[in-house]
Amino acid sequence: MDFDAAPAEQPCAVCDKPARTRVHTGCRERIDANLRELPALYRQLPDALHPGRRGGDGRNGSRTAPLPCNVDALDLLGRGGIEGVVGGWARDLCEREQWDVPQFGTIVATVDWACGILGLNLALICDEHPAVREMADELRAITGQARRLVTGEKPPRRIGVVCSCGRTLRVTLDTAGVRCPACSAQYGHSEALRLPLAERRAA
Ligand SMILES: [Zn+2]
Ligand SMILES: [Zn+2]
Repeated sequence: MDFDAAPAEQPCAVCDKPARTRVHTGCRERIDANLRELPALYRQLPDALHPGRRGGDGRNGSRTAPLPCNVDALDLLGRGGIEGVVGGWARDLCEREQWDVPQFGTIVATVDWACGILGLNLALICDEHPAVREMADELRAITGQARRLVTGEKPPRRIGVVCSCGRTLRVTLDTAGVRCPACSAQYGHSEALRLPLAERRAA
């Protein structure tokens, strides 16, 4: 193998680590895995809406005492939730490529179409799309959120990182990004995780 003939390393457009392609194969595969998981998660989310439903008396027809509803699951299921993220990126792709954007009657059909077209064109997106990092960050965050609601797994631990202005920012390992409330600096996923860790104060 002649590595001297390989293209020079450049920072990966998603994670910033040196890469010989615009986006690492591993980074592309993680985007692809999220796109393949989201349609199934979307169909499982309704079960997360009423986590206590199983304990109820199914024969009671009364509608006066609605069960508590998981609003996070409701947000992800509605327009602007999973549909907003994948549909937004799919419409953006269609506009860039001058393809027609189909209209769908249901949100789940939009989710299926969007995940499908983004997955099919992922090589193109990784080679050319100027915002591939934002897309990867948003897909990682929303897939993690949906997966936690479906499985009941605990949210990822928050860690403190220090903004260049000195303010401590709380982020999770799957953060899509964070904006500093003090100086308005905006950090993407990998930038936020590269900030220095906040020192734990002695108790
Ligand atoms: Zn990468
Ligand atoms: Zn700041």
